[in-house]
Amino acid sequence: MAGLIPQDFIDDLLSRTDIVDVIGDYVQLRKAGKDFQGLCPFHTEKTPSFTVSQLKQFYHCFGCGANGSVIGFLMDYNHLDFVEAIKELASRAGMELPENNEIGRKRPDNEPIYSLLEDAARFFSLQLRQHPQKERAVHYLKNRGLTGKIAAMYRIGFAPPGWDNLLKTIGKSSEHLDLLQRAGLTIEKEGNDKSEKHYYDRFRDRIMFPIQDYKGRVIGFGGRIIDQGEPKYLNCPETPVFHKGRELYGLYEARKYCRDLDRILVVEGYMDVVALAQYDLQNTVATLGTAITSDHIQRLFKTTSEIVYCFDGDNAGRRAAWKALELSLPLLKEGRAVQFLFLPEGEDPDSMVRSRGKDFFENRENFTSLSDFLFTTLLQDVDIHRLEGRARLVDLAKPLIARLPQGALRSLMQQQLSELSRLTTDQIRQLVPPPYPEVEKPKPVQRSTTRRHRRLTRSLVEQAIHILLNYPHFALEIEFPMELEELTDPHLPLIQELIGLISDKPDITTGQLLEHWRNKKVYPTLAELVMARKELPESAIKTEYEGILQGLKNHLLKQRRSAVIQTSNGKITEQIKDVFRRKKQDQG
Ligand SMILES: [Zn+2]
Repeated sequence: MAGLIPQDFIDDLLSRTDIVDVIGDYVQLRKAGKDFQGLCPFHTEKTPSFTVSQLKQFYHCFGCGANGSVIGFLMDYNHLDFVEAIKELASRAGMELPENNEIGRKRPDNEPIYSLLEDAARFFSLQLRQHPQKERAVHYLKNRGLTGKIAAMYRIGFAPPGWDNLLKTIGKSSEHLDLLQRAGLTIEKEGNDKSEKHYYDRFRDRIMFPIQDYKGRVIGFGGRIIDQGEPKYLNCPETPVFHKGRELYGLYEARKYCRDLDRILVVEGYMDVVALAQYDLQNTVATLGTAITSDHIQRLFKTTSEIVYCFDGDNAGRRAAWKALELSLPLLKEGRAVQFLFLPEGEDPDSMVRSRGKDFFENRENFTSLSDFLFTTLLQDVDIHRLEGRARLVDLAKPLIARLPQGALRSLMQQQLSELSRLTTDQIRQLVPPPYPEVEKPKPVQRSTTRRHRRLTRSLVEQAIHILLNYPHFALEIEFPMELEELTDPHLPLIQELIGLISDKPDITTGQLLEHWRNKKVYPTLAELVMARKELPESAIKTEYEGILQGLKNHLLKQRRSAVIQTSNGKITEQIKDVFRRKKQDQG
């Protein structure tokens, strides 16, 4: 049955479900470090060994070994079959299960929604030029300093006042009414008559900003109120094609209009993006009414090497900036940089670019570096002149520095912490979770040498799979050496498939990964491999993973060498046979 529900749907469902939320309904969970813990519902226990990881979207009991994704939990706990568990989760997430005729098709067909959204974008843009009441919108935009050129580049439009402008134009058939609703452009009227559905336009009397995906397809809209009114900004809800936590307003346009994108500026709203574009700063993007996510940052780093987060200088702005800092740390590989640009109180990007010009947003002197922001923020809470204050500073900075990948930035931050705390860099290095852990040595096995070698690689590949299941992003950060494809290892196709899945969907969680194999023979092996052995900082596990890849390369060399010996052995046998054959011929 599982195969009948499209994998895309399952992926999507899992990315909109939080395992902690769901399990929390059945088991009392308490936060313990990064994870949540509670009493295992699958065996009797007095001290909690049942662990739920939000990050991995995976649960695991250290007592009885029960583990799985949120789907597995519902199946086991409520004795549901796979489809029933999916139905339950879909209804929680407000998603509709694909219709029967869609089940079995590889991808849900979103083409009609894209094409309807494109029609809607054209409609709004036409209203800005033609509607009898367009003047208010035009006046508003002119007042904000926007030219027709920028309005056209960003396809800005106008949703006229009234309840059914878009409905009348586009919703001419029941099929189109349904699509408008699925695209998030209409709202269903609450009515007494259940037999017939009634809708009205979601966006009324607003400036419309189409949001485009990486291909330039319109996936949703943001609308800003023209005069006064609430809410000031309104977005499309989550739809099959629109996911706020992943999309960034202006990213498509930035790619399209900027020749080099060596830096991207992240601001808070669409008006900021277009206001800056007006001043020739088209390398600007905005989140869609949500805080920045790790997904957003990964997406940005695929396009640029430097991110500048632009926030208000007030407390709320600094809190948001701190969150962005925390999410950025693990992604700061060498060659990447993050900076902060704090605006003076009471100013926004629009007012700043008008008063100070483009230069304010480009001049490095205005930027606060990540390390400065990190240390000045921490120093606000400690008294650096007292020994206890310095100890506290080390405690606060330690876990943050530990999140940085190996590299110059990590070393320099450790050095900075050493200067501030008056500990030596060696002492700091000892306190920050170890950057160079020992790679676990495989245990010797009492078997013949060839058997031992085979066993050894298998366990190395298994170890690599274990790490990738738990830390999928390593697959993107550390390249799997091409030549390892030559290895004769039964699990090699599995690791290749794993890496393929992760590259297709960089934000995939452990729980989502496992669900890809639910109906395969290998599922129990994987479920066993995913289990955590020990708690190590991520950087340590990364080093371990690199060690494993190196081990595999060494093994490959051995494999190649023994292949050479075998072929030459083969050749010798042939030569001997040849000699015998000739002898026989001679004798004959
Ligand atoms: Zn248990």
